[in-house]
Parts: sequence; C-alpha cells; structure tokens
Amino acid sequence: MRLVCASANPAKVAELARLMPPRVELLPRPAAVGDVEETAPTLQGNAIIKAVEVANHVEGWAIADDTGLEVTALGGEPGVRSARYAGEPPDDARNRARLLAALDGVTDRTARFRTVVAIVSWQGDMHYETGECTGTIATEERGSNGFGYDSIFVPDEGDGRTFAEMSAGEKDAISHRARAMAKVPLLIARITGTSPD
Ligand code: IMP
Repeated sequence: MRLVCASANPAKVAELARLMPPRVELLPRPAAVGDVEETAPTLQGNAIIKAVEVANHVEGWAIADDTGLEVTALGGEPGVRSARYAGEPPDDARNRARLLAALDGVTDRTARFRTVVAIVSWQGDMHYETGECTGTIATEERGSNGFGYDSIFVPDEGDGRTFAEMSAGEKDAISHRARAMAKVPLLIARITGTSPD
C-alpha cells in the first residue's frame, strides 16, 4: 500500500517513516499542497483535515498525525493548540519557554502527549488510531535530540531523562506516536483485506 505523508515537519516525518510497517511505502508530501489550516477543535479533526487535503490532491491514500501535549495543571492546555501555544508563527522554542513559565512554581507537573494518526482516501474512507504517553514537564530544557516539546518532557516509563536526551530508538519504544503507529498494521490489513504481517 502507498501512503502519502501529510506532514511537512521533517522531524515528525522521520519518526513516522521509522514507525511505518515494512509493507507500506511512505511517499513525501507533494510540494504543491499549500499550508492546511488546522481549524478543528480536536486532534482527530485536525488529523483528518490534513490527511483529506493531501489524499484529494494525489487522488490516493494519505496519512496524517496530529499531536497535543496536555498538561494537568493547565486543564489540558495547550492540547490541540500545542503548535501555536506561544502565538503565530508556530515556534517550538517559544512554546517551550511559555510552558516553562506557565508552570513556574507549580508542583503538579504531570502531562501527557496524545497522538491521532489518520489514514484516509480521496474516495472518503476515514480511519484513525490514537496513542498516548504520560510523563512530567521538566523544570528546564535538557537534551538536543527530537523536536517540539521533547527537551522538557520526561516520560514516566523512562529513567528520568527527557525525550530529547534519548536515542530515537528509546523514544520509539514508548512514545505516543509509536503507540498509535503500532495499531496501523492491523488497520491497513483491514483496509486492504490482507494479513497484518
Ligand atoms: P502537530 O501535530 O504537528 O500539530 O504538533 C503540535 C505541537 O506538538 C508542535 O509544537 C510540535 O512540535 C509538538 N510535537 C508533536 N509531536 C511531538 C513529539 O513527539 N515530541 C515533542 N513535541 C511534539
């Protein structure tokens, strides 16, 4: 099966490529597809919007990921607004700085990443899977791997390091995105009527 990737973020595309089942060919997002406005109030809605735009453009199947960081002490914020938490244009460093400032002096630093992966066709088929990873927000940035909020997120299932201090393989073993992608082989098998391995 061929899936066209709806994400333009190179770091995210690299993760999706690593996590893709072997029999799926992941094709890059066509340069001709413009920026897609993520106007839905949910991760699921935005994943579908992004995937539909690309699927319609290529007249085929597309995959999109939408991810949010939900912080308990902030009532689940920034959540669906994670990319633009510090305003326009989206800026990872400013987002992290704003989150650290919002949690200054706050003792409950629990949070979770949630990912929705949507796989859709231009003919109207729509499927999605979800994955999450719980953890805490560090008090300062640590590490230089990964992207986005990785340098301030300490997963519960790790050893105290942030995602940005882990190797790609270590992040992939426990991440929200990996957990959503782990469900994709079965989903694709259902879509194509083949066996999942
Ligand atoms: P989106 O899914 O591309 O809209 O991402 C929402 C926000 O979450 C952006 O600021 C991303 O940089 C960030 N983000 C998405 N996935 C991850 C991740 O795996 N680790 C850290 N930050 C992420």
